[in-house]
Amino acid sequence: MKNKLLILPGDGIGPEIIAEAEKVLDCLHTDFGLELEVEQGLVGGAAYEAEGHPLPESTLSLAHDADAILLGSVGGTKWETLDRALRPEQGLLGLRAALELFANLRPAILYPQLADASTLKPEVVSGLDLLIVRELTGGIYFGQPRGIHIRDDGQQEGINTLRYSEAEIERIGRSAFEAARKRDHRLCSVDKANVLECTELWRQVITRIGGDYPDVQLSHMYVDNAAMQLVRAPKQFDVIVTTNMFGDILSDAAAMLTGSIGMLPSASLDSLGKGMYEPIHGSAPDIAGQGKANPLATILSLAMMLRFSLNRPELADIIEAAIGRVLDDGLRTPDIAASGTQTVGTRDMGDAVVAALRP
Ligand code: NAD
Repeated sequence: MKNKLLILPGDGIGPEIIAEAEKVLDCLHTDFGLELEVEQGLVGGAAYEAEGHPLPESTLSLAHDADAILLGSVGGTKWETLDRALRPEQGLLGLRAALELFANLRPAILYPQLADASTLKPEVVSGLDLLIVRELTGGIYFGQPRGIHIRDDGQQEGINTLRYSEAEIERIGRSAFEAARKRDHRLCSVDKANVLECTELWRQVITRIGGDYPDVQLSHMYVDNAAMQLVRAPKQFDVIVTTNMFGDILSDAAAMLTGSIGMLPSASLDSLGKGMYEPIHGSAPDIAGQGKANPLATILSLAMMLRFSLNRPELADIIEAAIGRVLDDGLRTPDIAASGTQTVGTRDMGDAVVAALRP
């Protein structure tokens, strides 16, 4: 049976970058025999305009049916004054919640050809390829009790609660071990077990389930040290697994090691490996419609989808190698342009990747 893919272009540069990923999909179909049943849907501002809601029932139902979702980006100034519940970003949050996408995978990959784009020394980051697996639906961002209240002594007090059940830790841990198995078989679990009991439990559970993955080398690191190591020697990491808040902070730091927002893909997975794949950047209203957007983060999201949801890692390798060749040839969209390179637009970049896919 064919896998089902739902494509949600979204807003701003979303449709432009998705169009380039679709060219890659077409080539994988004609030249490499990839068979998919593809549907298109509306999300974000585009869905609000057409159906009055950023996540219409029709899209939600297609999303439930799909094995994987490829999303462009959502949002734009036009919708910023709407009620919060109707804003484009709610389409994205609604999908994550409805599909229980609890594992957020954020790779930080720096192609050697782009080493100058980083603020760190080229020798520290060139060839960087690490993956952060962040727990996305629990932890301190969701724990109860929470809020701001007035105490008996008249002082205001703010409260948030860090809570993780064994089951929540186990499922994100297993996603991370599985991800490590698809890479270099090394997993570093990041916690603050010396101070926070909740993450003491985190360490115990990750260590216990580690017994089921003898082929993955497990290590533990406190989050303060991890932050330091990420900027000191980021290439020591293969896969990092951590809590919602630690992952939020560390994944942004890791993304910035690469210095190029137009190059970074992401995935959000459920416990069965179904996932939503999207570039980490937004809808870039400042360049939308100008043919300047970098489509590579979206094409790399497609590669992640083939690796993590569709079990076609060899096609993911082919896409990543093709992007490497295009960069070797000196082609750059304006966001990654440097002296001595050739600046091209969104479509030309997509065409060049498709041409490089073929051996
Ligand atoms: P942004 O990521 O859209 O843009 C930040 C900067 O990076 C801009 O200068 C933009 O031109 C540039 N940029 C982003 N993607 C690029 C690409 N592929 N190629 C070249 N340059 C690129 O962030 P923002 O400006 O803070 O947000 C714009 C809108 O996007 C807002 O409505 C925000 O809510 C939304 N947003 C959506 C998502 C998402 O869909 N996942 C994520 C973040 C922000």
